[in-house]
Amino acid sequence: MTEVEGFYIDGRWAPPSTAKTRTVVCPWSEAPIGRAPLAADGDVDRAVGAARRAFDIGPWPRMSPAERGAILRKMAASIERQADPLADLLTLEVGTTLVSNRLTSLAAARLLIYYAEMAEAAGVEKVRQGWRGAVTVRKEPSGVVAAIAPWNAPVFLLMLKVAPALAAGCCVVAKPAEETPLSARFIASAAEAAGLPPGVLNIVPADREAGEYLVRHAGVDKVSFTGSTAAGRKIGAICGEHLKRMNLELGGKSAAIVLEDADVAKVVPSVIHNGLAANNGQACVAMTRILLPRSRYGEFVDAITAGVGALKVGDPREEDTVLGPLISETQRARVESYIAAGKAAGARITIGGARPKSLAKGWFVEPTVFVDADNGMKISREEIFGPVTVIIPYEREEEAVSIANDSPYGLGGAVFTEDHARAFMVARSVRTGTFGVNQFGLDFGAPFGGMKASGIGREMGEEGFEAFLEPKTIFAVEGGR
Ligand code: NAD
Repeated sequence: MTEVEGFYIDGRWAPPSTAKTRTVVCPWSEAPIGRAPLAADGDVDRAVGAARRAFDIGPWPRMSPAERGAILRKMAASIERQADPLADLLTLEVGTTLVSNRLTSLAAARLLIYYAEMAEAAGVEKVRQGWRGAVTVRKEPSGVVAAIAPWNAPVFLLMLKVAPALAAGCCVVAKPAEETPLSARFIASAAEAAGLPPGVLNIVPADREAGEYLVRHAGVDKVSFTGSTAAGRKIGAICGEHLKRMNLELGGKSAAIVLEDADVAKVVPSVIHNGLAANNGQACVAMTRILLPRSRYGEFVDAITAGVGALKVGDPREEDTVLGPLISETQRARVESYIAAGKAAGARITIGGARPKSLAKGWFVEPTVFVDADNGMKISREEIFGPVTVIIPYEREEEAVSIANDSPYGLGGAVFTEDHARAFMVARSVRTGTFGVNQFGLDFGAPFGGMKASGIGREMGEEGFEAFLEPKTIFAVEGGR
């Protein structure tokens, strides 16, 4: 059992103000694996108070990027040293594969170095020629940031906010999801080991109510949120009311457009591993609508079905496991209700649709392929967040683009073709924040985020750093009035 005793507030472990706790149950063994306190309003007040003092009094926002960078590099080294135990804990807490958890743990450490280097290279002040003479443009940190992360990749998604925010000079109150309150303690230990000044980073796992209290808090200047579109709308409304800065990374229902000339050997692994199998089916960017040309429909359906049939579902600690369980019994029930809705609407299942018979324990769902679906069905419009994909046939290329765009979401997607020019025509026509050609993957050095109901703002790359800065112009015109 991992026992977390308190919250990381003001540079030390503080006891919780109430008895609210969460016992974490492992999604594949169904055994309790840890317990942690959940923050109540009073704990959030203390965390925001500490971040406020650290920001208003300093020294963090006024330190040079190089001074901050030295501490962030030490944090990165500490996380790197702990990458194996962190990956082990994530495998127990989330149920995602050990192989992927090792990668995301190292990537979390790497983000700290990446943004430390970016802040050093960017500098704080630049002089430019305005219309009235030379002006100084400063990029100042946005202030106290509420960083709210979901449970599906808790440490990596939190670090996408924490690393650029700290590098920019912001102070942070991080709120991991109540489902995953254990793993963020590795970030807290790294902050302690690196000598991060008190209050610069505070970590308070909490439920949705306390999360909303944090968003409304008068001491918070900016909210950086990753989670569902429903929660994003609520948070966006609160931020609008209080004119807080915000970044919203929300849900998706991305389409893979397979053109007539596509190479089956490129299509099948990509639409499976970046689709229904990504992160146990719980990935916002998963390509979960596959648009196939009528002329090659049967051939692709057979190849995708065979590919899905070959996936190993089971214990996420085993190196060759591709799909572990869903995070909770509730999430499994939700996914099963979508499978039922797909069947009721007349879509046909070629593989999956039930719980794996060989696995006695755990919240597993078989990877499931729906065919003969249309884009109006509930399973084609809503984010299922489970290992389910929907195959939709189309007649003409323009129709495929219009089906891809006929979605409330706009997060990712890809086109598969051997014709580079056509690929780029399609890539330019689909309204999403990220798009792949013959593959789909994220590049942490390039902006990532959504159009439409998939969110506002961008993470990753320079854009993810700029998101935590406010420009300030200082005029000093000779003889000016
Ligand atoms: P969720 O929105 O219920 O919760 C996400 C986080 O927000 C949790 O920490 C939760 O406690 C908090 N929260 C929820 N309501 C809140 C509120 N009103 N005020 C403040 N905090 C609140 O989402 P979930 O079910 O935990 O996570 C899955 C969702 O996250 C999916 O929709 C998925 O697409 C999305 N997601 C998006 C990205 C992205 O980068 N676009 C990445 C991963 C996951």
